Amino acid sequence: MMCPGRTITIGVSSCLLGQAVRYDGGHKHERCITETLGRYFAFAPFCPEMGAGLGAPRPAMHLVRQAGEIRAVVSKQPDIDHTEALAGFFDAIRARLQAVDGYILKSNSPSCGMKQVKVYIPGQEQLPPTLDGAGVFASRLQAAFPLLPIAEEVHLRNPALRASFVARVFAHHCRRRLQAEKMSPVVEASPD
Ligand code: SF4
Repeated sequence: MMCPGRTITIGVSSCLLGQAVRYDGGHKHERCITETLGRYFAFAPFCPEMGAGLGAPRPAMHLVRQAGEIRAVVSKQPDIDHTEALAGFFDAIRARLQAVDGYILKSNSPSCGMKQVKVYIPGQEQLPPTLDGAGVFASRLQAAFPLLPIAEEVHLRNPALRASFVARVFAHHCRRRLQAEKMSPVVEASPD
C-alpha cells in the first residue's frame, strides 16, 4: 500500500545510522537501513542513553531483575541505576513519537533491545543470564504504541522480513492519515 507524495518517517536507534553514540564511542551502522530503507523513509534518530545524559564513551550497562522489576545498571558498578533516566527520556520524546510510522531498534541493547535481551541476577553476574528482557526504552515504546511496526536491525537484513516491515510501515502511515482526515472538521462553503 503506497501513500504517494508524503514523507514517511520512522524512528531509529541512532547508532544504526552510523552516529558514534555507543558506550564505547563507536556505532553500529547498518547499510540495509541507510541504503535500502532510506529510499522509502526519512529517519528520526534517537539514542536513549545519550538522551538520558550519559555521554559517550560511558561505562557499559546491562539489565538485572530486582524484586520482579527489570533495571538497567552499570555492569561494573551495579549500584548505579539508569532506569529512571532512560524512562524519563522516553517520556520526554513520547509526543514526538506520535509522528513516526515505524521504529527500528538495536538488538541486544539494555536500552533499545526489543526482546531476548540478557538479564542477570544482581550479585550473580558470573551465572549465565536469561534471554527474556527488553531494553528500558524499547519496552516503554512497545507498551505505549502497540500498533506501531517495530523491528530490530538483525531481522531487517533478511529481504523478506525487510519487505514485510516496509509494507507494515506504509499501512500504518495510510491508516493514520485516513484517521486524521476523518477527524478534520468539514469546512462549509460560504453562500456568497
Ligand atoms: S543501542 Fe540505543 S542506547 Fe545504545 S547506542 Fe544505540 S541508540 Fe544509543
